[in-house]
This record gives sequence, structure tokens and C-alpha cells, in this order.
Amino acid sequence: MTTARASCTAIRKNGQKCGRTALVDGTDRCFWHSDRVSDAERHAAAQKGALVLRQRSAVPAVADVRMRSPESCPQLLEQTVEEMKTGKLDPRTGNAVSYAIGTAVKIWEVMLSNRISRLDKMIHG
Ligand SMILES: [Zn+2]
Repeated sequence: MTTARASCTAIRKNGQKCGRTALVDGTDRCFWHSDRVSDAERHAAAQKGALVLRQRSAVPAVADVRMRSPESCPQLLEQTVEEMKTGKLDPRTGNAVSYAIGTAVKIWEVMLSNRISRLDKMIHG
């Protein structure tokens, strides 16, 4: 059988009850209002949350550039590297985008090579 966890009874700056789920330490306080959580722990958690939000919000910036032509690839690659360097884009996503760019360039190389072959046959028979 499960028991519903208590809600935090702390009063927020706006005068309303916090209402977040209380910790399982027997108190009626959440992580952000518990006396048993140090300021350092709260600070670390807040920073981690902010980093996750930064990483999530950064993904659409790279996604704005489309791989419509070979000419767009250098710009997309440059933006991807820049956003990875500044920590706006997580390396996993950055590596995936870089890999996709490399694959697209190879596809365009093959397409270009086939086109040259066709033109060569038209000219020289
Ligand atoms: Zn609370």
C-alpha cells in the first residue's frame, strides 16, 4: 500500500503555500525548504537545473540552420562547434550533428560525381 506524500507547508515570498512534494525524511518540507538540505546542496541543484535548461534551449539555435545544400554545411558545422565550445550545446548532440553533416557531404559528393559522369558521357559519348 502506498501513502500519499505530504505537501511542503513553507510559505513562499508571494504569501502562498509552497505545495511541492515533501521529502521522505518525516518533515513537511520540500527539497528547497528543508532545514536538512544545506545551501550548498540547493545551490548545486539549482546550477545543475540551469545548465540542463541552457543545454535544452540551445539545441534549437543549431537546428535553425538547415542542411539544404553543401554550401550551408560549413556554417552549420561552425555554429555547432562554437556552441559546443561555449557549453550551449551538449557534446552528444554536437557530435550527432557533426556526423550528420559529414554524411550529407559524402552523399553530395556521390551525387556530384554521378552528375559529372553523365555530363562526360554527353560530351564525349
Ligand atoms: Zn517547499
